[in-house]
Amino acid sequence: MSALEILKQHNIKKTPGRIAIIKSLKESKRPLCESEIKAGMEENYDRITFYRNIQTLSQAGVIHKIVIDNTTILYALNHCEEHHQHETLHPHFYCEVCHKVVCLEDVKKPDFPLPSGYTYSSSEIVIKGKCKMCNK
Ligand SMILES: [Zn+2]
Ligand SMILES: [Zn+2]
Ligand SMILES: [Zn+2]
Repeated sequence: MSALEILKQHNIKKTPGRIAIIKSLKESKRPLCESEIKAGMEENYDRITFYRNIQTLSQAGVIHKIVIDNTTILYALNHCEEHHQHETLHPHFYCEVCHKVVCLEDVKKPDFPLPSGYTYSSSEIVIKGKCKMCNK
């Protein structure tokens, strides 16, 4: 699916900024941070528009946000190719050596037993450690 088709499928107006964000995330095999996405946008980048686009794209279910800490926030595309998978069902891995973040697509998040009176909405799991490359 092209960036244009993704926007169309989620009823979002096409703008150069949104197309550029989706393209960068599609080309990359791992989640990207703002400065990495910015690098692929050249003169099209402006901070306020970038954040608005990120918000629009996450609300529509096109991308998901990965928050490691206050200064490390990344973005990745959702699975809309086969079926619209908008809830992030996988945990994320943060490598403390190379600082890369990986979507652990094949790992399922556990079900958390909640005390009575609490209802589940969503959860984010970030596993920290050393990645495959850094363990070599
Ligand atoms: Zn979708
Ligand atoms: Zn690493
Ligand atoms: Zn992910």
